[in-house]
Amino acid sequence: MRLHTFPLMLQNIYGLTVGSHSKAERMKIYLDGKFVPAAEAKISVFDHGLLYGDGVFEGIRAYNGRVFRLEEHIERLFCSAKVLMLDIPMTHRELMAATCKTCAVNGVRDGYIRLVVTRGVGNLGLAPWNCERPSVFIIAGKIQLYPPAYYDEGMKVATVPTRRVSAASLNPEVKSLNYLNNIMAKIEARNAGCEEAIMLNQEGYVAECTGDNIFVISKGEIFTPHKSMGALKGITRAVVFELARKLRHPISEPTLSRYDLFTADEMFLTGTAAEIVPVTNVDGRVIGNGKPGVITRKFMKAFRDLTRKSGTPIGK
Ligand code: PMP
Repeated sequence: MRLHTFPLMLQNIYGLTVGSHSKAERMKIYLDGKFVPAAEAKISVFDHGLLYGDGVFEGIRAYNGRVFRLEEHIERLFCSAKVLMLDIPMTHRELMAATCKTCAVNGVRDGYIRLVVTRGVGNLGLAPWNCERPSVFIIAGKIQLYPPAYYDEGMKVATVPTRRVSAASLNPEVKSLNYLNNIMAKIEARNAGCEEAIMLNQEGYVAECTGDNIFVISKGEIFTPHKSMGALKGITRAVVFELARKLRHPISEPTLSRYDLFTADEMFLTGTAAEIVPVTNVDGRVIGNGKPGVITRKFMKAFRDLTRKSGTPIGK
């Protein structure tokens, strides 16, 4: 596996291109109340976000000068933080304003925003109560989705040995900085020649993917795993529920096994970065007729239309 050097890491966050090297250098990062050039946006080696993955984050999209579902993202961030007893030193409103401002300062009208809250600087012990103050940083950059071909032809995915972490250990609804579980799964998917993995839960039922939720369509009905199966309550997932109601498609959250995946007529993944991407092959089994399905394409279009016309204006 190739390891990236630091400047490349600046360009490639969460598989997303945030701009060319020089652009990344010109980028202004919101860091604890100030806008600083990317090269100066630094976190201490004693920050528990780095030492222990102790922190929370959100990936958010801006479309056409508006931040899509901003309130929902901020709400989820505060819920994740509450579970970890991490006090975000800002209000919902301040965080929303800082997110919009980060886009405005960087001239980002269409892009990807990464909002991170770390536990802050502590000592070498685990104890979070020795950390001074949580740090908040926001990066607004450009995005490179999966290759366009995946949206036209569908992508292939694989189920992998690494299971979704149990809710009894760390509730998968918490969007924490601890993604090693998913990273292991992503490596296993790549070893199987795929870019995304389907993760099963401890019981072997379908949970979600490493960075996306999963939907299957059988006989015109749409199914997705319930959050109790180990799925994150994705913001894009919630939009699919809204669209399903609007487009009058039955949708429910039953227990899904690999059998249900292999025998589905259509399948798609959802995520802030991925949007809605069709799946046409799982573990070597062709899904449906091997092409993105009719219902999937209908939802892709409805989602695209919605993102272009709703959201919180970024302003100046
Ligand atoms: N599952 C996981 C594990 C994720 O990290 C994400 C976000 N990238 C999703 C699902 C999709 O959630 P959302 O639609 O809110 O981006």
